[in-house]
Amino acid sequence: MKIICVGRNYTDHIKELDNSKPKNPVLFLKPDSAIILKNKPFFIPDFSQDIHYELEITVKISRIGKHIQQKFSHKYYDFIGLGVDFTARDLQADLKSKGLPWEKSKAFDGSCFISEWTEKSKFDNIDNINFNLVKNGKTVQDSNSKLMLWKIDELISYISRYFTLKIGDVIFTGTPAGVGKVSIGDNLEGFIERDKIFDLKIK
Ligand code: ZN
Repeated sequence: MKIICVGRNYTDHIKELDNSKPKNPVLFLKPDSAIILKNKPFFIPDFSQDIHYELEITVKISRIGKHIQQKFSHKYYDFIGLGVDFTARDLQADLKSKGLPWEKSKAFDGSCFISEWTEKSKFDNIDNINFNLVKNGKTVQDSNSKLMLWKIDELISYISRYFTLKIGDVIFTGTPAGVGKVSIGDNLEGFIERDKIFDLKIK
């Protein structure tokens, strides 16, 4: 399986990183080796002094598809979850400044946390889901899927123009504002509609 990530999908996050608003979705991939194994913590890697959390709504692909029309996108997923796109921000800034690919800062081992899944049918409207991240007891990211520049069904259609979607692939739909650093000993908790979906330790 593969993990397809969307960058710059919330205006407030684009502003906080001083990036410009893209004309099309920004896409990048993480390999399956980036996934944190079940019940394991996130280990801060030795090559970065500035690892950031990015809480994102995730979508699990349930059907193979290419060139999916937006009106059919909803047939390609049944589950929604949360993910943390861990990013070595110092390394990413260096790579970006040199015009180099981001992979070392975004796709390293452990850079991808994927929560348990919730059935899509539990939500009235996929484009109106509240989600938030609590770090050490304090809310640090709090947003709603309605604030995405490109909504889930638009993303699936767009992504499938470039990458065949396969069963089990996971899409990270981008992070809202409030990204920040993690340190050893931190605890992250993710919520959808105020229900706790995950608990993750930083080591
Ligand atoms: Zn991200």
